[in-house]
Order: sequence, then C-alpha cells, then structure tokens
Amino acid sequence: MRSLILLGAPGAGKGTQGALLTKRYGTRRIATGDLLRDAVRRGTPLGQKAKGFLDAGELVPDDVVLDLVREVLAQSERSGVVFDGFPRTLPQAEGLDRLLDELDQPLEAVVVIEVPEDVLVQRLSGRRQCPHCGAVHNVYFTPPRQPGVCDRCGANLAQRSDDDAATVRRRLTVYREQTEPLVAYYRRRGTPVHVLKGDGSAGDVHRDLVRILER
Ligand code: AMP
Repeated sequence: MRSLILLGAPGAGKGTQGALLTKRYGTRRIATGDLLRDAVRRGTPLGQKAKGFLDAGELVPDDVVLDLVREVLAQSERSGVVFDGFPRTLPQAEGLDRLLDELDQPLEAVVVIEVPEDVLVQRLSGRRQCPHCGAVHNVYFTPPRQPGVCDRCGANLAQRSDDDAATVRRRLTVYREQTEPLVAYYRRRGTPVHVLKGDGSAGDVHRDLVRILER
C-alpha cells in the first residue's frame, strides 16, 4: 500500500483504523498525537514545547510538527505510511506534499472518517485508558466490569488529560476550523478523497475502508 492520510475529528477512530491497517498491510503508521504525547511523557525538549498546546486542546505549531514528521519519515524504510492526525492545517499539508515529493512517495488517497458530533463527544469524554496494558474502555459504550478498573489487567484506568469536556469542545472546534478545510485542498489537488461513515463498530469501519482501498 502507498501512503494514505486518515482525516477525521478527534474521536472519529483514526487511531483504531490506522492500527488495523498497519496490522493488515504492514504499513507504517505515523500518529503525531501519539508521538507528541510520548515526548511530553519523556520530558524531551519537543515535549516541553508541546505540552501546553496539548493540555489546551490547541494545535502544536506547524514548524514543530513538520520537523517531527520529517525526522520520523527519514527513519522509515517501508514505502507506505498511514498518517493519523497529520496533517491538521494547510501549511502542514503543503509541507507534507514537499516531503513526499522529496522521497518520491506519492499519496494514494485521503480517507475522511465522519462521525456525528454527539457520538464524538461521548467517545472522547467517556474514554478511559489503562496506563499499564493500553486497553481502552469507554464509560458509555464499553464500560469496565468494575468502574475505574481495567478488565484486562486490573490496573486503575486513566482519562487522557485532553479528554475533559471543555478541552474536547475546543478540539472539535479546532478540527472544524483548521483541519476540515483540508478535504477541499486535497480535492482541488486531485488526490482521491473517500468519505467513510465512522459511527459503526471498528470492525465494520475497517471492512468498509479495506473495500475502498482495494477497489
Ligand atoms: P490526537 O491524539 O491526534 O487527538 O492529538 C492530540 C493533540 O496533539 C492535539 O490536540 C494537538 O494538541 C496535538 N497534535 C497532534 N497532531 C498534531 C498536528 N498534526 N498538528 C498540531 N498539533 C497536533
């Protein structure tokens, strides 16, 4: 598979679908949110720059994110990449075009995962992750047997610091204002853009996604 961008609001399931594509096709997934959170956790210079933006639900500056992606792409030997949560602004999309040109790696498609706003809010504000084994629960859709405790390993579940109600609202607004316009950008540019309904189960959405990609 060649390179692919997963677009969609926070909570649309980009991370889940990106991971399933990686498993199926062996492509590399570059999820800038995961990379930034990891840098914050480790307290690296990048993490120190990014932390305030993540906590507020705002975007990390374009030049910081583009430097990060350039670095990760340079280490990538595999040809196909699934971009998850990147690009999020027009300057990032233009920067990615330049990077992929340099690497002679054409973009195969953009997939937009669409989920109604009320479902997004429940998915994000209800999300609880196990810091120990990584299992993800949702207090509305997949509650743990015992509140606050991971079904899989028994550790205490945690809420992502930017999944509180106010920050969730801000992240959704930032998506509408800064990221959604990328759909029109890629259409204008002639990249195939596929719009996918994302409010079904992860397995159903994955099946639809594979059907689109293998058509
Ligand atoms: P995510 O896990 O993709 O929802 O990203 C979590 C947070 O990381 C976002 O709310 C931003 O603060 C930051 N972030 C992730 N990807 C980007 C990006 N491409 N550009 C700017 N900020 C980003």
